[in-house]
Amino acid sequence: PLVLGIETSCDETGIGIVRGTELLANVISSSMDEHARYGGVVPEVAARAHLEALVPALEAALAEANVTLEELDAIAVTSGPGLSGALMVGVGAAKALAVSLDKPLYAVNHLVGHVGADALDADPLDYPTIALLVSGGHTSLLLVRDLVSDVELLGETIDDAAGEAFDKVARLLGLPYPGGPQIDRVAEGGNPKAIRFPRGLSHAKDMDEHRYDFSFSGLKTAVARWVEQKRDANEEVPMADVAASFRESVADILLTKALAACADYGVPRLLLGGGVVANARVRQLATQRCDEAGIELRIPPLSLCTDNGAMIAALGAQLISAGHAPSAPGFGADSTLPVTSIQA
Ligand code: ATP
Ligand code: MG
Ligand code: FE
Repeated sequence: PLVLGIETSCDETGIGIVRGTELLANVISSSMDEHARYGGVVPEVAARAHLEALVPALEAALAEANVTLEELDAIAVTSGPGLSGALMVGVGAAKALAVSLDKPLYAVNHLVGHVGADALDADPLDYPTIALLVSGGHTSLLLVRDLVSDVELLGETIDDAAGEAFDKVARLLGLPYPGGPQIDRVAEGGNPKAIRFPRGLSHAKDMDEHRYDFSFSGLKTAVARWVEQKRDANEEVPMADVAASFRESVADILLTKALAACADYGVPRLLLGGGVVANARVRQLATQRCDEAGIELRIPPLSLCTDNGAMIAALGAQLISAGHAPSAPGFGADSTLPVTSIQA
């Protein structure tokens, strides 16, 4: 089926078009720059930016795919989780299009959408698979037994998201927002073993109760304390070593949890998604540990890892192919939609 996907859960306005598992267009417009001076995504600013970006992005995607609105078989939209005001813009636009064009509408889960991105690969992963989704808004570990019918949340962050931790630590080091790419760059020149920062919830005792959960706020505080002590002593802060050691801790935590899930469930596949997947050390450590453990690792291209409309269109197409009915028209934006609700 020819499906249009609309994504507005955070700061990316994403419009994607797929034909089944074939990617035809993936237009992304981000309001990231507008949030930079606030040091994080401002919900009202994001919502207004979606209003402005949506129609131009839609027109660009239709042109890129060389299709018309009339030719579409269906429309898919992210209905949650995410920022309420931002989600509402996409949901409103999708409903307006669906009613005016008389097309079926599928309201889908943003997190499952990240997993659905892999359907666009020439050689998609088999199921079951473990999925690790790491971005500015979420850090979730999923057991996906079937993309359209069986997704289980194994664990998630109990405080900050991994990307949020990168952004906060960057800020305390005086680096601009978004901090992830900045820390990644500075870390390249540092020694990851220079400072042993804590690995939240990864110690033996935590691996019982919080086996698949994440915590990054203690790590952030540890970095802040360490830097503060140096500054108080009038010593120079070794930026590269701090960045490398912090990045090492995050990568270690993420992969320790993900590989524990693969081992526990006997699932030899791991799919990564979310903006933090751009991190060089996360990619490297994932490759190394999956190699050692005989786990097939999938890292989609970055344009399909960060928030985008193509993954939403892909999930919509998979739902249609599996025979799912369109969503009832009464659905709305749900900022806390659980991952088990694949379709709203
Ligand atoms: P959501 O959580 O709803 O998916 P988001 O906009 O926060 O939305 P993304 O756009 O996928 O998520 O990712 C942005 C996050 O990824 C930011 O926190 C950013 O710092 C982080 N990030 C980007 N590049 C890197 C990198 N190279 N290393 C670490 N973190 C990175
Ligand atoms: Mg974003
Ligand atoms: Fe996302």
